[in-house]
Amino acid sequence: MTLSQVGLLEQAMQPVKHKNRFDRYFLHGEAESIDYYDKAMKWAQEAFVDQYSRNEKPYSGLPHEEFVKLLDETFKETLPEDGSSIKTLFQNIGETILKHSIVVSNPTCLAHLHCPPLSSALAAEVLISGTNQSMDSWDQSASATVLEEKMVRWLSDLFFRRKRADGVFTSGGTQSNFMGLLLARDRYFKKQLHWDAQKNGLPVEASKLRILCSKDAHFTVRQSAFLLGLGEQAVIPIETDSKHGMCTDSLDRCLKEVSEQGLLPFALVATAGTTDFGSIDPLVELAARAKQIDMWFHVDAAYGGALMLSERHQHKLHGMDLADSITVDFHKLFYQPISCGAFLVKERTNFDFIKLNADYLNPEDDEETGIPNLVTKSIQTTRRFDALKLFVSFHALGRKTFADMIDYTIDLAQETATILGEDPDFELMNQPEINAVVFRYCPQRKDNLNDSEWLNRVNGLIRTKLLEQGHAVLARTRVNKLVYLKLTLLNPRTTVEDIKVIVSQMKELIQKEERK
Ligand SMILES: *Cc1c(COP(=O)(O)O)cnc(C)c1O
Repeated sequence: MTLSQVGLLEQAMQPVKHKNRFDRYFLHGEAESIDYYDKAMKWAQEAFVDQYSRNEKPYSGLPHEEFVKLLDETFKETLPEDGSSIKTLFQNIGETILKHSIVVSNPTCLAHLHCPPLSSALAAEVLISGTNQSMDSWDQSASATVLEEKMVRWLSDLFFRRKRADGVFTSGGTQSNFMGLLLARDRYFKKQLHWDAQKNGLPVEASKLRILCSKDAHFTVRQSAFLLGLGEQAVIPIETDSKHGMCTDSLDRCLKEVSEQGLLPFALVATAGTTDFGSIDPLVELAARAKQIDMWFHVDAAYGGALMLSERHQHKLHGMDLADSITVDFHKLFYQPISCGAFLVKERTNFDFIKLNADYLNPEDDEETGIPNLVTKSIQTTRRFDALKLFVSFHALGRKTFADMIDYTIDLAQETATILGEDPDFELMNQPEINAVVFRYCPQRKDNLNDSEWLNRVNGLIRTKLLEQGHAVLARTRVNKLVYLKLTLLNPRTTVEDIKVIVSQMKELIQKEERK
């Protein structure tokens, strides 16, 4: 070999330092690129801590139209011709978008099933988006597929305690409920009507299919019914009892009527934690009804599923393992950033109803070698590695801390219910089973007690004013045409003192209103 040949060979063995004009926008091993990444992260983080996390109020109170103006003034163009300083950019984002966001971690932000995210999960998000793994195929995720499968096995054991259970991470309850009803529908077609919905679409009998759920079930049951081509008519809402759980007598009556009318009930949906009241349907009784006439039993535990972690409250979910499928959300009582949920099935082969083979993602020869391509279990193709943030939080906090937080919020809800229940100015609507308290301002001393229009207006006003003044974010709901207020006490940082302050603010506000 000549010297020049040796030189060429050495050159060829050097790692190629790819230098082109796009390098700086992406993270790789070169100092310049790492520096840009570090700075971008630092400026984003500074804006987040300074403009958002230090906010003392749950909302700045800026009216909607004024924010529209502010945003237009700060960012004249949506896509400028040339890029500019990322430092200034994040400062501007901080002054506008972050400053006027809803501060979910504030102890008086109590409207929805919307949790403060754990810091450990926020750090995991950096890795989830940074590595940008896609869960649809193993060759786009490798280790991520293995970890998601490990988490799913753990969840299957927790909820079903059986080996043949399986599941997949989803974007949340909407997707999980849809998947439950999709599998239920297609299994029914195959088993009862010998019909392959995947190939042939809907059979003529489709218009007779019925889904039973309580009238307090989540609206996505109805949404799923129409997306599945069954129409909202397919959903029969069953009456609830005084605790807002499904009334089994009404269910029995309904089942009898349905069978007399020749309709085809194929799915029974129980809710373990209704969105408004946090009530839990009688799972064991419902499972027995479902089994009797071979209906698919789906449990929507988007909200209540987390009680499984608590020794004190786990018993409320007794019967959950009798479900054919389960919805559980981690962006609620598991304190994960949006979005993060799971769909679990008792019998893994039921996933075959949605399986399609795409040669580029899950070719049949991969299946023979045992390489898992998770696209076979999901209706979503490209999918985030959200399992990582839950895993990180589990390890950072441990089960005991999760249980402690859940127990704390349930105790807080009970104390809040006592405060409101004993106050003659308020009417309490529910004894919280989880941590949602529904009530309204309804003073006993007033002669306009029967004036429901006035009461509706005042209760609506309480919510709007507290938000505008930045005191608290409450939810409003309607029960039998009456306006009620709702405190969803998800945040473990909220204290009884915070609640007492909100109660006195409500009273002050009403007194002012009455003086007008
Ligand atoms: C939140 C919720 C849903 C919807 O879940 P998303 O995560 O918002 O899609 C469904 N069912 C219940 C009971 C819920 O609380």
